Amino acid sequence: MSSNNDKPTTPTTTTSQPKLKEGCCDVDNKPSQKQKQQQQPKKQQQQQPKKQESSKPKLNTPPTVDMPNDIKYVDSHVHVDQILIRLNKTLDEFPIFQKENYPIQFEKCVQVCCDPVALEYTDMLVQFDPIYAAYGVHPHNASEYTDDIEQKLITRMSHPKTVAWGEMGLDYYYNKSPVDIQKQAFSRQLVAAVQCKKPIVIHSRDAEQDTITILKDLVPKEWKIHIHCFTSSNLDFAKSLLEYFPNLYIGFTGCISFGNSQPIRDAVSLVPIERMLLETDGPYMTPMPFRGQVAHSGHIPLVANVISQVKNIPLVDVLKQCRINTTNVYGI
Ligand SMILES: [Zn+2]
Repeated sequence: MSSNNDKPTTPTTTTSQPKLKEGCCDVDNKPSQKQKQQQQPKKQQQQQPKKQESSKPKLNTPPTVDMPNDIKYVDSHVHVDQILIRLNKTLDEFPIFQKENYPIQFEKCVQVCCDPVALEYTDMLVQFDPIYAAYGVHPHNASEYTDDIEQKLITRMSHPKTVAWGEMGLDYYYNKSPVDIQKQAFSRQLVAAVQCKKPIVIHSRDAEQDTITILKDLVPKEWKIHIHCFTSSNLDFAKSLLEYFPNLYIGFTGCISFGNSQPIRDAVSLVPIERMLLETDGPYMTPMPFRGQVAHSGHIPLVANVISQVKNIPLVDVLKQCRINTTNVYGI
């Protein structure tokens, strides 16, 4: 928002609050493999082969990360609306929340509005200086993608603080909307985003093949693309995307710090630092050691710290390069 607090443009909470959303991208909502095993009869549990100790080094995820004061970072994907709702805070409490919880190295964030119900709320959030926006319809809400919603998204693309269209994509893990409807909403949004000349934010879960086919079909090769919250264990998926689209970047969240996320850390090893984006996907994907709490942009240094360890690159260099990458994709 503007630094002059007396201006009538100060966001207020007069517009209805968006509804509380169940994990848009959260891995925690479905029963984990461990929970599934625990639900199995005892006899079967005893027959489970002994867990192999990983040869990979243990991660060090401290509660705070040491960084120089002059380094700046951007959280390239966060749902501020969902964070405030979960914390029972009103929209005008954002600046205080930022001051109390984000380190001084926090510079900007991209508020991702992916549910039609949060459109107006996001319009108000971007009145805060550090908040930029992406608007789209999540595959979970694909059935709600109508001509009317599409028009509302197109209108918002010309706002000076709108940096992208998304997140949109395919989610065959939760399948909250039928596959055909998901594909249709995804395709329509890609066409519209390209017409509006906007970078795109992609959500893809257990839908690698269809995602890549549709992207190649509808998106020009040179397009700026953010594959958000990479959780696939299919490294070929990452490889072929990076190879085919020269301006495609892969976003990593706090889930790279989870004990059971070695396949995602393998993707961190594979993806060049020049093609990575830092994101929290807050309130979801809270990094260790805060798992179970609400993720927010103050957690970015923890994500960067894991990347630094996995790739054996100094933390400062991870932050600097990802800051450049963010400008390359979003122009901020
Ligand atoms: Zn998200």
